[in-house]
Amino acid sequence: MQETAQTADESLFSARFKLYNSTTDSLSIIFLFSAENIRVRIEPIKEKIPKHVLKVIEEELAKLVMLESSSSCVESTYDYLDWLTMLPWGNFSDENFDIQKPEKILDNDHYGLSHVKERILEFIAVRRLKGTSKGLVSLPFCFTLVICLSGPPGVGKTSIGRSIARALGLKFFRFSVGGLSDVDEIKGLRRSYDGALPGKMVKCLRSVGTLNPLVLIDEIDKLGKSSSDDPGSALLELLDPEQNADFRDLYLDVTIDLSKVLFVCTANVLDKIPTPLLDRMEVINISGYITDDKMHIARDHLLKTTCMECGIKPEQVVVRDAALRSLIENYCREPGVRNLQKHIEKIYRKIALKLVREGASAETPEVSVKNFMIDESNLADYVGKPVLYADKIYEQTPVGVVMGLSTKSTGGSTLYIETTSVEEGEGKGGLHITGQLGDVMKESAEIAHTVARRIMLEKEPKNLFFANSKLHLHIPEGATPKDGPSAGCTMITSFLSLAMKKPVRKDLAMTGEVTLTGRILPIGGVKEKTIAARRSQVKMMIFPEGNRRDFDELACNLKEGLDVHFVDEYEQIFELAFGYNMGSPPLNFRRSLTSFMWDLLSGCFQ
Ligand code: ADP
Repeated sequence: MQETAQTADESLFSARFKLYNSTTDSLSIIFLFSAENIRVRIEPIKEKIPKHVLKVIEEELAKLVMLESSSSCVESTYDYLDWLTMLPWGNFSDENFDIQKPEKILDNDHYGLSHVKERILEFIAVRRLKGTSKGLVSLPFCFTLVICLSGPPGVGKTSIGRSIARALGLKFFRFSVGGLSDVDEIKGLRRSYDGALPGKMVKCLRSVGTLNPLVLIDEIDKLGKSSSDDPGSALLELLDPEQNADFRDLYLDVTIDLSKVLFVCTANVLDKIPTPLLDRMEVINISGYITDDKMHIARDHLLKTTCMECGIKPEQVVVRDAALRSLIENYCREPGVRNLQKHIEKIYRKIALKLVREGASAETPEVSVKNFMIDESNLADYVGKPVLYADKIYEQTPVGVVMGLSTKSTGGSTLYIETTSVEEGEGKGGLHITGQLGDVMKESAEIAHTVARRIMLEKEPKNLFFANSKLHLHIPEGATPKDGPSAGCTMITSFLSLAMKKPVRKDLAMTGEVTLTGRILPIGGVKEKTIAARRSQVKMMIFPEGNRRDFDELACNLKEGLDVHFVDEYEQIFELAFGYNMGSPPLNFRRSLTSFMWDLLSGCFQ
């Protein structure tokens, strides 16, 4: 039946071709040939095209042949057919099921990141055992297909994504959804609209030419939202293994099986990712690098690639360890290495200019063979004077000032919490807060004020500082918005330091959420905060007890030399922060002594 329809169609086509041939309507002939082109294009892949798609192609082809050349539909029908037939139906990259080669590729491309590499190797191992290219959809849910690499900028999220594709033998495609607020961008625009086009995913498949590429969706935490559109739900259709086997692009209006696409997303922070999306992802954290890591990355990767890209022979430049360390510690303290890469490029560009000025060219770089030595003494000639970092603004924090730890989308950082008394007088007690704090942090400050007042009342009942002092709490830098509950314990300490007129221990930093009763709750970003503390030469850190495991899992070189304490009650922080060289017994002892005396005295008066 279908065959008869096709033969009729073909004879109609030849009849019309003869008719067109006898006219001078060149446009008609072009469209007619275009239809024929499409027939020729699909002939060898007919078997691979899913039946429901083939049916639509045949119908549209029949329509194209029948249409008048002047009809406005001709062009759009042709475009539609072009998109539909240019998709790589049945084309798959041969996957790498071997373990050694991918391991080598991943190790060659990136220093460290062992947890990311391990996860990819596990993924390959499972696929190898299953011996299927169907993906892990049918495996238990713990083998989520969507990987989300989260971490500050420049830690290698995008570049490891590219490496993973290379290691697995898959094509790579990247698109960013940062600021994207139109569903059309992802799902395409219906054909009935002017200028309709398919969405990003269809464009991706057409450009890579396979149905199983690795698609890196960048900046998923910066997804926009408009009043009428929710691109998050469109992304969910794309990423959810339950739904994406039948993904329907609005322009193509046929379902496409995306279940064999390996999706990798990147984000700076997780709390901005829509929850339904986050639920479907397996998050792998890349927190940032400390100086030693950066030294390795620079030596093994950045210096070599930059040297090559600038057309300079490796033996022509020697960068001394001291120079590299100074570059990292004085110029590029960010958790990532992008800024470090820019500085290294700056050095090599300057060397290239010197070489060219002396007559060197790509063919004869040796004309002015000279070894350039970059050490601490001449580093500034290449990259300018170091930027002054204000991570640590006090050598010894004054009364009322305590160092806290925070995490932002750019990584961890230290911040000072400062409190001062503005006005004193009976019944004047109160609190004023500045520093662009969000609602959560403002509440945190109020809780801290109450807890500090209670502690003071317990410890020194005669001290009416909180009842009679109007306090001002500020967190620099004032231009940066801040939020989150993890500064609770730092705020209490700052209040108490002011009330007792006693500065906290030197080189101390702390983080932890506090309840009204003084219990310390766990926080996030332990690794980022530890990196930031090291950067600010912190010697003693206080973490909530609930974060002990997170800290224990950190690399040894990150933990080395830090005196870390885990607490679950504010009382313990009090001891650590103020219990130094007091010249009197520790507070707990003093308290038990007081109660002992009280018992004694009350015994006397009985
Ligand atoms: P992100 O996507 O996290 O912002 P990129 O992937 O763009 O960062 O990385 C920035 C640069 O740093 C790239 O040139 C990348 O190769 C390099 N890089 C980052 N981490 C590493 C690493 N561990 N080893 C080698 N190079 C790295």
